Amino acid sequence: AARLHGKTAIVTAAAQGMGRAAALAFAAEGARVIATDINDALLAELADVPGVTPQRLDVCDPAAIAAFAAATPAPSVLFNCAGYVHAGTILDCDEDAFDQSVTLNVRSMYRMIRAFLPGMLEAGGGSIINMASVASSIIGAPNRFIYGTTKAAVVGLTKSVAADYVTRGVRVNAICPGTVDSPSLHDRMRALGDYDTARAAFIARQPMGRLGTAEEVAALAVFLAADESAFMTGQAIAMDGGWSNT
Ligand code: NAD
Repeated sequence: AARLHGKTAIVTAAAQGMGRAAALAFAAEGARVIATDINDALLAELADVPGVTPQRLDVCDPAAIAAFAAATPAPSVLFNCAGYVHAGTILDCDEDAFDQSVTLNVRSMYRMIRAFLPGMLEAGGGSIINMASVASSIIGAPNRFIYGTTKAAVVGLTKSVAADYVTRGVRVNAICPGTVDSPSLHDRMRALGDYDTARAAFIARQPMGRLGTAEEVAALAVFLAADESAFMTGQAIAMDGGWSNT
């Protein structure tokens, strides 16, 4: 039987990468999925996928979130996947870069959960999945100052909300990937100048000697969305090719 039969899901940053893979995996397991992003062209590619409804949503825009929440019933599954990797140390991170990462990586989740949690509670529960990273409270990655700071905040946010609603049917877990093949990863490789050297360095971070795939992470998201994981909340689950085990 389909593992998410009868469930509804909202996914942010669903146009590409892990968000897209999760939206497709949720739909393939029988969920009705609202796939949101700011990239209209890529979202349009999802229009013909059975079970998937693409919809524009900028998770940095509080008015857009309020309008979306007013028009959208609370889902059984909320996957907050949107996030941005700022490269650099604390000395490379000015106030604007700091605020941008906090807004996109953390405040977006605060806003989305505030918008949909009341409805999820009213419906008797649900599963919230937040995209963190192993570069967070788990490990310190070089040149990932504000990224690691915000992803550690995602872990704290996850555990805090999980603790407050543990008796009311809402579960909250975080996914902490290592380096995963995605369009923005290739942008980061190109930005470093020497693409092949950058690619080799990104691969070398994983003791398994390869990148993760968006589909591997999507499989974990399906598990966290499904009732199979009903006894699990407040967890930050690493899927990282062994990176955090070194
Ligand atoms: P990606 O970075 O290639 O794509 C990100 C998507 O987010 C794009 O479709 C983009 O349009 C969308 N987006 C950007 N700003 C948005 C906004 N304001 N509102 C809505 N959507 C917005 O995808 P990815 O690499 O799979 O990353 C997805 C998530 O996983 C991010 O939170 C990222 O930090 C996290 N992550 C990525 C890796 C990795 O190695 N790729 C590892 C760990 C964690």
